[in-house]
Amino acid sequence: MPHIVILGAGFAGVWAAAAAARVRDGADLDITLVAPDDELVLRPRMYEAEPDRATVPLAGLLKPIDVRHRRAWGERIDVERREVHAGGDVLGYDRLVLATGSRLVRPELPGAGLLFDVDTLRGARRLAGHLRGREGFTAVVVGAGFTGLEVATELAGRGRVVLVERADVVGPDLGPAPRPCIEDALDRLGIEVRLRTSLHAVEPGAGTRPGGGAHGAVEAVLSDGTRVAADAVIWTAGMRADALTEQVPARRDRLGRVAVDRWMRVEEPSGAVFAAGDVAAARFDDSHDVMQSCQHATPMGKTAGHNAAADLLGLEPIDFAPAPYVTCLDLGAAGGLYTKGWDRQVALSGERGKEVKQWIMRRIQPPVDDAEQLLALAGMVRLPIPF
Ligand SMILES: Cc1cc2nc3c(=O)[nH]c(=O)nc-3n(C[C@H](O)[C@H](O)[C@H](O)COP(=O)(O)OP(=O)(O)OC[C@H]3O[C@@H](n4cnc5c(N)ncnc54)[C@H](O)[C@@H]3O)c2cc1C
Repeated sequence: MPHIVILGAGFAGVWAAAAAARVRDGADLDITLVAPDDELVLRPRMYEAEPDRATVPLAGLLKPIDVRHRRAWGERIDVERREVHAGGDVLGYDRLVLATGSRLVRPELPGAGLLFDVDTLRGARRLAGHLRGREGFTAVVVGAGFTGLEVATELAGRGRVVLVERADVVGPDLGPAPRPCIEDALDRLGIEVRLRTSLHAVEPGAGTRPGGGAHGAVEAVLSDGTRVAADAVIWTAGMRADALTEQVPARRDRLGRVAVDRWMRVEEPSGAVFAAGDVAAARFDDSHDVMQSCQHATPMGKTAGHNAAADLLGLEPIDFAPAPYVTCLDLGAAGGLYTKGWDRQVALSGERGKEVKQWIMRRIQPPVDDAEQLLALAGMVRLPIPF
């Protein structure tokens, strides 16, 4: 029986599995998803105080649609032999969907091992556990990009936050349009912003801080020579595609993403490899590549899964046709920010912006134990946001 192997169970991998299962529609086709964990982690929610609430059991997604879960890390891809090595097994495939996502780029600086992050469930749990019960903590958040802003504004309700940014503005990659709104939120929440500053080192602290409670305290040494005594230093800057992309003989961009065509097929000689989500650089339109975002990973996954199955069953492929680009940023107690277009014109802010953010965070969660709804959603590549 023809076999599709999907590597990775993030948004791209899970939606690829659902889309392939939808196209299969009773035909002879095996689908195996290889992933090390038992849950889909909703990464965009890892900045929240209770990250464990932002997971979905894979069994409730895959079993109802008859997709096998091989619980292992994919270790090696042999594109010529059409094989994946995972957990001591060799899995042959007819079509592969690479969807192993991205990783935070960790800095090489003294004391880097003392840094926290919200990149993975493990990282987010470690931070949440560390700060739980610490009234009036101090947190240094490094990077005022999308993730850094969400972490900083969330923590500001619970402690003192110092936000360190190398550029001379906050949200340097978000462009000028949303900046006044972001600056206003940071101001209102009392976040101390240090621009044109980077982190040089993290050192074990002297053991004291205002308000007492020395356990786990460190010192953030900043490029301007100042030191901030802190309970946690959180690194948020930079994401890179998973290293398995290097095993596929294809062109890669500066983020390590493999080039794919409008069907999500990787531009490599075998023609049997598709890629979706943070590992893949698809064209969004004539002027933009997709962003490493769940907003794009989801329709890319649906397109890749559909086309991998269609290829094997002799059906027509579908083009990648995502909904218009939007951005939605949680700003903690200062509300939220919802922008439209690649120049990120502010459409909604404050409470309304927050409502949209919460609506989106609910919608990114796939339906559990409901094959009919999951398969129906898998067929909708373009899901616009009605705001
Ligand atoms: C804090 C934070 C906030 C974010 N906020 C937003 C937001 O508001 N909006 C938005 O659109 N995006 C946001 N993002 C980005 C978004 O989370 C990612 O772009 C999205 O998760 C990418 O989906 P993916 O399926 O490609 O990869 P991932 O979600 O990274 O999933 C990859 C999966 O592959 C698995 N895997 C990795 N290596 C292997 C291997 N060798 N073998 C098998 N499995 C493997 C991983 O365990 C993981 O389950 C945010 C990210 C973070 C960290």
